[in-house]
Amino acid sequence: MRQSELFTKTRREAPSDEVAKNAQLLVRAGFVHKEMAGVYSYLPLGLRVFNNIISIIREEMNAIGGEEVFLTALQDPEVWKKSGRWNDEVVDVWFKTKLKNGGELGLANTHEEALAALMTEYISSYKDLPRYVYQFQTKFRNETRAKSGIMRSREFIMKDLYSFSRDETEFRVFYEKCAAAYASIFDRAGIGSKTHRTFASGGSFSKYSDEFQMECTAGEDTLYIHDGKKIAINQEVYTDEVLADLGVKKEELRTAKAIEVGNIFPLGTKYSSVLGLSYTDEKGGKTPVVMGSYGLGPGRLMGAIVEALADDKGLVWPESVAPFKLHLVSLDQPGDEVSKVAGTLYEDMERRGMSVLYDDRDARAGEKLADSDLIGITWRIVVGREGLAEGTFEVVTRANGQVLKKSREEVLAL
Ligand code: ATP
Ligand code: MG
Repeated sequence: MRQSELFTKTRREAPSDEVAKNAQLLVRAGFVHKEMAGVYSYLPLGLRVFNNIISIIREEMNAIGGEEVFLTALQDPEVWKKSGRWNDEVVDVWFKTKLKNGGELGLANTHEEALAALMTEYISSYKDLPRYVYQFQTKFRNETRAKSGIMRSREFIMKDLYSFSRDETEFRVFYEKCAAAYASIFDRAGIGSKTHRTFASGGSFSKYSDEFQMECTAGEDTLYIHDGKKIAINQEVYTDEVLADLGVKKEELRTAKAIEVGNIFPLGTKYSSVLGLSYTDEKGGKTPVVMGSYGLGPGRLMGAIVEALADDKGLVWPESVAPFKLHLVSLDQPGDEVSKVAGTLYEDMERRGMSVLYDDRDARAGEKLADSDLIGITWRIVVGREGLAEGTFEVVTRANGQVLKKSREEVLAL
């Protein structure tokens, strides 16, 4: 893509009302637009990153047997009354709205109820189980704090998968598979080494749930970490009993701030029993389905990648999620040899189907290089007068500034 055709522009100053590093940089680089507090639109470059993240998650969910659906954001209060979660005192993040004829509707903040109700039409026998159903769908949450940029917004896409199993044993097998898939997602997104599988509170059916927490000073959660044993404990379950349970001592733990990037949760029969989701087993008895929920916010993950990898010059994307793999920057004067060489190189790259953003704008070299740093594409290829004389191009690694000289053939093989 030619950069001159992007409608977005970079800006030098961060918006004064943004405190989060992720939002400051993403707004400055033209990746997102803030509509109002806690509500962000994704612009062309931001959407490319977002979609790359979604592709990684989708691949990993399909690999463990996930079947993708797309449920509705509009929710029927009757379904939610069955679980008791229509009540604003039980769920304090509801956005509710009214029908013209006076009835009420909810805007989905999660989908346990809706999907359990839906599955009653498809699950009736042990032969129908297990099932793993997921979606990328909009959630609305009336969050009180909206200071973390795109990591905590009031409207956001969540990947939520729900597992439907015959019993606890079958459920646990999938739960561990999904934990492994999450670890793989965070590895592929470039934050694996900072992300801990963390003991968190489990609710009514299980002692623990598992959160995937990325260490980050801007995080809202506090962890207690045993590096040797690779155990992390969320402060919310940090008790003497839990420490004894996990076989670790207070003195051996360090604390760190962290961001929850994903969450997997045993639900037992909490929703299936009240929504009538049961199956007939081999002996003809009726048994409620054992459920689990597995959440992950691609926007939260995108913000976390920014928090973890960006530097004082701007965004830094790992190739797996970068809006483009290569940023071709031409340091030319209009109509000179440099611009001709860059232009034909770009056309060759496009012909080969390479993922490249070509800065063909009529702008000063300093401005182009600063913008390229801000946008943070993994590799920058600089076409300048010096290289031209010796037939080479500079290939700059955005993450560490390393510069390599490469021939045209080598560049086309990237
Ligand atoms: P938190 O504890 O951060 O408020 P939660 O426990 O309420 O989150 P879940 O319902 O478990 O969140 O959501 C699953 C995942 O969805 C989270 O791990 C996170 O990746 C993402 N997520 C949750 N809330 C938001 C939000 N307000 N904005 C963006 N992503 C979110
Ligand atoms: Mg949580």
